[in-house]
Amino acid sequence: MLRVVVLGAAAGGGVPQWNCGCEICRAARHGQPGLASSQCSVAFSADGAHWFLINASPDLRQQLTATVQLHPKRGQLRHTPIAGVILTNVEVDAVAGLLSMREGSSFTIFAHAKVLSILRDNSIFNVLSEKNVKRQPITLDQAFEPALPDGRLSGIEITAFAVPGKGAWYLEGRTHPGGEDGTGDTLGLHIRDKASDKSFCFLAACARVTEELKSRLAGTSLLFFDGTVWRDDEMIAAGLGSKTGQSMGHIAMSGPDGAIESLAGLAIDRKLFLHINNSNPALLAGSQERKRLEQAGWQIPADGMEIVL
Ligand SMILES: [Zn+2]
Repeated sequence: MLRVVVLGAAAGGGVPQWNCGCEICRAARHGQPGLASSQCSVAFSADGAHWFLINASPDLRQQLTATVQLHPKRGQLRHTPIAGVILTNVEVDAVAGLLSMREGSSFTIFAHAKVLSILRDNSIFNVLSEKNVKRQPITLDQAFEPALPDGRLSGIEITAFAVPGKGAWYLEGRTHPGGEDGTGDTLGLHIRDKASDKSFCFLAACARVTEELKSRLAGTSLLFFDGTVWRDDEMIAAGLGSKTGQSMGHIAMSGPDGAIESLAGLAIDRKLFLHINNSNPALLAGSQERKRLEQAGWQIPADGMEIVL
């Protein structure tokens, strides 16, 4: 059995974003609290007792408070069910939450060597002492089984693969501490429970769908996929900024090259969009965009939703 909890479904900034007065952010503050969503992360577990996070969002503290599955065990003075954090990129919305995990509990950070090099390069992450918080490099396309804090194996097999994307924006124009070879900045994950053979795929960032990616995703039971923008230029059109989805390394949901069209026809049991920007009209339950997405078999999950495979 594989249990998966959506801790947050929003892109960087969340919904509502602190400094945003767009229609969706205003609605999330007033009248439609169901629209509110924290920044993207999911937790998964094979045994219900030990959990792994995919990415650590800036909202992690609030997400852990809201998620009973991740509370300390009753009767223990210091405890966390979190055995590890797998990082798929090094954007602020994927790593800032690590700083909220600095109170001495042991866990392991799994990430590509390039991502680990950036954490090492930023001395603020030294608050996570390597004595308690081990760093384990991920090798692309090589399945690994993370261990639990007591050394036993977790029963979960993880395979990370490179996805078309971009490096973190704060590194643009700077020298990457992990080298410039271009891979490792954006990962997709395939997570499999060894006992039941149930699995899911997770891609919070993806610039385009390639044939290789399609063949990886075909046949998966559950897919979490990049839903940052509905259309590539929506932030510009709404007056919210100058960036397109592509310039940030994100595919649009709609359009002939968008995620909905590109992934249509693949045998995937359940498809959920994650990492949804507050500019995306598909967040609004009654919108045309939401209807089209749902007609195509996609869903937008609420924070806290648990899926059991
Ligand atoms: Zn907004």
